[in-house]
Amino acid sequence: YLTRLRLSEPQLRSFLHLPDDDAVLAQARHLDAKISAGEELGPLAGVLVAVKDNICTADMPSTAGSRILEGYRPPFDATAVKRVKELGGIVVGKTNLDEFGMGSTTEASAFQVTANPWDVSRVPGGSSGGSAAAVSARQCVVSLGSDTGGSVRQPASFCGVVGLKPTYGRVSRFGLMAYASSLDAIGCFGSSVADTGILLHSIAGHDRFDATSSKQDVSNFLSHFVPVSSLESKPLKGLRVGLIRETIDNGVDAGVISAIRAAALHFEELGCSVNEVSLPSFSLGLPAYYILAVSESSSNLSRYDGIRYGNQVHADELDSLYGGSRAKGFGSEVKMRILMGTYALSAGYYDAYYKRAQQVRTIIRNSFKEALNQNDILISPAAPSAAYKIGEKKNDPLAMYAGDIMTVNVNLAGLPALVLPCGFVEGGPAGLPVGLQLIGAAFDEEQLLRVGHIFE
Ligand code: GLN
Repeated sequence: YLTRLRLSEPQLRSFLHLPDDDAVLAQARHLDAKISAGEELGPLAGVLVAVKDNICTADMPSTAGSRILEGYRPPFDATAVKRVKELGGIVVGKTNLDEFGMGSTTEASAFQVTANPWDVSRVPGGSSGGSAAAVSARQCVVSLGSDTGGSVRQPASFCGVVGLKPTYGRVSRFGLMAYASSLDAIGCFGSSVADTGILLHSIAGHDRFDATSSKQDVSNFLSHFVPVSSLESKPLKGLRVGLIRETIDNGVDAGVISAIRAAALHFEELGCSVNEVSLPSFSLGLPAYYILAVSESSSNLSRYDGIRYGNQVHADELDSLYGGSRAKGFGSEVKMRILMGTYALSAGYYDAYYKRAQQVRTIIRNSFKEALNQNDILISPAAPSAAYKIGEKKNDPLAMYAGDIMTVNVNLAGLPALVLPCGFVEGGPAGLPVGLQLIGAAFDEEQLLRVGHIFE
């Protein structure tokens, strides 16, 4: 893995920080010592795990892709990272992202653009593009990302890997740099559903450092990852699958739609009943998401004042110290979102924007609940297209935001969703992968992973 990583990294640029090989190997040697001492090893023993750079690591920089945090080293590990290490995982480096998770391509990183391993002239998706590309190019075994509106699922789709956004509250957000706190979730990437599930199992569960982390038990879903050859011929008999009609409609690439239809047929072969289901409020998700996400982010990002964290410009007055540090430290996408969020939250506009978006959020949550009463899982594309060219949407933020239509509703509803490769469209040297999204009931990651494992 390390050799392949060193060889591929100059072209892919998945990582913002890579410790030298000795530091990585030292973590492995630490496991050797445990073996010699007769200690039991955890399920991640020796597994190389890459970590998105908005997740805190005490022994490596954590910048969230922002100049304002350049060189910043947190004094602690995020709970998810701590658990990975306790179970034997080896953190191989910190991956690139759109600054503070704001974007869908990694082009909004203050430091570099990551290339898609399937075609290096294309984006890997985002914001967790570095974590997705690293798994796709086998620079690591699994990786951690974060998903506020699709940032794990859309890059998984673009890079042809598995990505999982857990139920809100399933994984502790302690040590995840906040973008929009009511939507943020740490998620997992792997090259198979089983790998992804093992990583989720390692990091899930209550954490006293995150008041929104759930006390619900984490079921032992690892037993579902049996060899598929040992299963009966219709292993998903009786499962009700709902294909969300609004997601295979206008504006979605024809090649993506045919890959999803082929996936639906595959579900039928596995014994499922597949029906189209309508979520009439689906298209409201995008405007509601962008109002809520930018509002919450404008509040969350106020902590970067040049004093408590990160870079500071020198100034004679306190106000110009704050203003100067923020003007210099934040990139243009982040500034635009702070402005939009501040506007949406301001006294005269609060009812018209923020409050209405919250009302829409309730409608969306209820419509998913209803659809999941009639169906065991819902399916849709993970994105309306396959990976596009670097630069193609860079100067058209609305076109980029529109690409999040498939994923944002799931965050608004707080539900878990799994993305896995289901086909290809033409493009690049070898075709471009298309991702299928499976959406399940809250805290039922077990069913998503079982179904995903059998499907794949
Ligand atoms: N692309 C979306 C945004 O920019 C989602 C990002 C995310 O999930 N972090 O807000």
